[in-house]
Amino acid sequence: MNLNAQVCCDGCGALATDEHLCLRVARLELATRFRPIHIDALILIPSPFPRFGDYFYKPAESPADRGAESQTFFRGVLSAAGVDTLQGRDERVLLEEFQRTGCFLASWSECPPDNAQISFDDTLGNLAPSVVRRIKFSYRPKRIIPISHHLAPYLSAFREAGLTDIVMLKDGKPIAMPDLGNPAKMDGFRAELAAVLGKTAPRAGSASQT
Ligand SMILES: [Zn+2]
Repeated sequence: MNLNAQVCCDGCGALATDEHLCLRVARLELATRFRPIHIDALILIPSPFPRFGDYFYKPAESPADRGAESQTFFRGVLSAAGVDTLQGRDERVLLEEFQRTGCFLASWSECPPDNAQISFDDTLGNLAPSVVRRIKFSYRPKRIIPISHHLAPYLSAFREAGLTDIVMLKDGKPIAMPDLGNPAKMDGFRAELAAVLGKTAPRAGSASQT
């Protein structure tokens, strides 16, 4: 693995290895495949899961491909958007249905935390200008739905960019990232996200893994 000392990753600002850059491109390609032409709701999380197999837009070939926490999050977000996530449905189909709802999930840092030089929160702060550019000139969503308290300190960047009116918050704050180790905690998250998305709350059990 070569460290390209001169190459900073566009997606996260870290000095990047070849592997890091390849994975970033692979994630971009997958996300592009399922990106709506016109994005209604941009769901914004701090960063992707560390493991590539857990990437939101990487359809699992078998249930074991996606780890438990990624599985919980994936199903929670999709069901909040009104997608039927009953076990056994092909993830490609689920992602296509999610695409048709006009929702797109993106992350503030396009890569998992991979910068030993600075804290992840500082990374998020440094990326604010590029996130604003991505939103204004690429995604151009009708609404932005930030998830996780990690994003709260940086939402002022949206104010300065004139995006405040389309940022959807819950009680003035981003929707909290649920405890993904506890699927039972997902009901509240799904209901909050469904409410912000203006979708009917998913029926009970539709996002369970059983
Ligand atoms: Zn990166």
